[in-house]
This record gives sequence, structure tokens and C-alpha cells, in this order.
Amino acid sequence: MAAKVYFIKASIGDGERTISEKARRLFQAGGFKKCFQKNDFTAVKVHVGEQVNNTYIKAPCLQGLVEELLKLQTKPFITDTSTLYTGRRHNAIDHTVLATERGFSVAGLGIPFLAPDGLFGTAETAVPIEGELQQEVSLAADIVRCQSILSVAHFTGHVATCAGATLKTLGMGCSSRKGKMRQHSALKPQVKKGKCTRCGECYRHCPAGAITLDQLQAHIDQDKCIGCAECVAVCRFDAVQYDWKQESEILQKSIAEHALGVVKGKEGRAAFFNFLLSMTKDCDCFDKADMPTMVPDIGIVASTDPVAVDKAAIDMVETRGGRGLPELIENTMLDWRHQIEHAVKIGLGRADYEWVEVS
Ligand code: SF4
Ligand code: SF4
Repeated sequence: MAAKVYFIKASIGDGERTISEKARRLFQAGGFKKCFQKNDFTAVKVHVGEQVNNTYIKAPCLQGLVEELLKLQTKPFITDTSTLYTGRRHNAIDHTVLATERGFSVAGLGIPFLAPDGLFGTAETAVPIEGELQQEVSLAADIVRCQSILSVAHFTGHVATCAGATLKTLGMGCSSRKGKMRQHSALKPQVKKGKCTRCGECYRHCPAGAITLDQLQAHIDQDKCIGCAECVAVCRFDAVQYDWKQESEILQKSIAEHALGVVKGKEGRAAFFNFLLSMTKDCDCFDKADMPTMVPDIGIVASTDPVAVDKAAIDMVETRGGRGLPELIENTMLDWRHQIEHAVKIGLGRADYEWVEVS
């Protein structure tokens, strides 16, 4: 039986209050309350954006969803893990201050922001899975421990996975540092001869000290590199590149397997929302302001199936954009199908869905 995916039209122009009410309507119409029980510790997984990034989904847009969880007498908390790359989401203290400044807090939403992977991103639990690449994944300890999860993903393109939505939010966003490194270990970027201007940005941002500069260009020490992709993100000259065909596929499969670990033990206790608003070709980890959107706003999709909700979102974006997602993000070497097909193969969910529009 196809998975049900619920959809409501919305745009940034509606304003945050209306977007929040539309997300609430979707929650109610989709019957998502069945996923949450009284006294559950419920993780509300979000992305609070980087320092300068201003296209992430703003805290007030989540007010309605949080209120629905509170009505059900769960103990919801806003949450996200530490990043591998440097920045304000690199550890729980800086991340919590940033989240608080942006209203992801008791003052803003009535519930706290709590890091599920501890101060340093190392509080983890190993979860056994039946994957193809991994038999065990390292996840943020308190994500594993809480009883239910409401995942709120901002749909964007992605520099290494093509699509960034629910699967990425779960797989990468709920992993400990070790889990993230494992996923990124497939990525080994190279500096392309003749393109590097020696600007030094990658050298300054590399968290692993893997980059050196000589008289001609930057060089990456493959043994030191942890595959965090920060150098790809900061290079303005397109000089840092991957072998996309091979490495993106492994990364996407690994993300799907980590996502499988996240929902393990939470069968029927998880809901997945994708916000198809302010959809940029790069994700919210990019520390850039006013990134242009690749397609006009569409709305919000939600499901209890993490694969169907992403497949539905990608289908909508491609239809609205009139082109495939690789063309929309201007990297035809990438193919989002790897994450969807692998997720189906390992039993995370279904790619076929039944569409239910909510007004
Ligand atoms: S950021 Fe790009 S152009 Fe600048 S040094 Fe690094 S590889 Fe070269
Ligand atoms: S070389 Fe690039 S991908 Fe490797 S650790 Fe440094 S910034 Fe990250």
C-alpha cells in the first residue's frame, strides 16, 4: 500500500504566523497526533541556520507544531547536533546561543533547545542496523533515547547529495560526530589544477588541518581529510571538487542507513515534515545571506514515511522547476535517486505515495 503524503500550499509571503497555522492544519489533518504519547520525550529536529544564513525555516513557523505536541502532553525539545565544520553550530554551547538568538528557545517557542549529542558532539549510542555499508551506526545519544521524533526539514539542494530534506535531516543531522565522519568518509575532495587562486579560504576553514598552500595552489592531505565538505562550500572558484559519481552515491547510501538507525525503535512514533519554502540550491549550512531560490515556494508536505515524504517533495520541486533537481542545482553529476532507492532497499520506507491535499 502506498504511503500517504499530506500537502498544504504555503509561501514565505503568507507570513510566519500563517505558515505556522498551515503546518498545524497539516499535523491535524494527517492525524499525526497518533505518533506522540503523553510524557514522551519528543525530539523536534530542526536546522537553525548558520550565522549569516537567512533562508532557513524560522522559529515562529514551528509554533503551531510545538503547540500540538504540548497539547498531547509530550515533553518536546528543539534539537540539532554539532557540525563537523567550524562555525556557530560546531558545539552545543555556541549552537544553543545561536538557536536562542533565533527564537528556538523557551522564550521563543515555549520549549528548550537541547543538544542530543552532548557538549562536543560525542555523546552517542551505537545502533545495530541491517545495512549494506554498515551493520551499526553512531547516533546522537538522546535522539536514540527519546520516545518520538518530529522531523522538520527545510527542502534545499545539496552540494554533495543533490537533495537535502528528511533523509539528510535524519541521517546526517541526528548522528554523532563519529557517525557524521563515517558518512563523510566517502568524500575525498581534490583541488583542481588551474582553478585555485590561492585565496586561502579553504585553508582557514578546514577543521582537520588537511589543507596546505604552496606557491601555486591549495593541496588536500587525503589522510587528514575528514570529508566534511567545508572546503567545497567556501571555495568561490569551484576549485575543490569530488568524484561525484562514486562518492555522492556512497554518501547518500550511508545517510539512508543512518536514517534507518534513527527511526529504529520509533516505528509509528515519528512524523516527517518537509518545508518547501525559500528553496535554495545549497543547504542551510552555507554561511551566506540572501541565497537565491531555485524554484518558487510550494508549501509543506508531511508523512509518517521518511522516504515517501522526500520523494513527493522532489517530484513537486522538479515539476514546479520544469527541470530535474540536478539541473536546478546546476550539478548534473549528482543524482538524488541513490538516497531514495537505497532507503527503499533497506526497508526505511516506500517511494510510492498517495497524495492528500489539505486546504
Ligand atoms: S578556497 Fe578555492 S581558490 Fe581559495 S585556496 Fe582554497 S581551493 Fe584555492
Ligand atoms: S580538506 Fe575539505 S573536506 Fe577535508 S577536512 Fe578539510 S575542509 Fe573538510
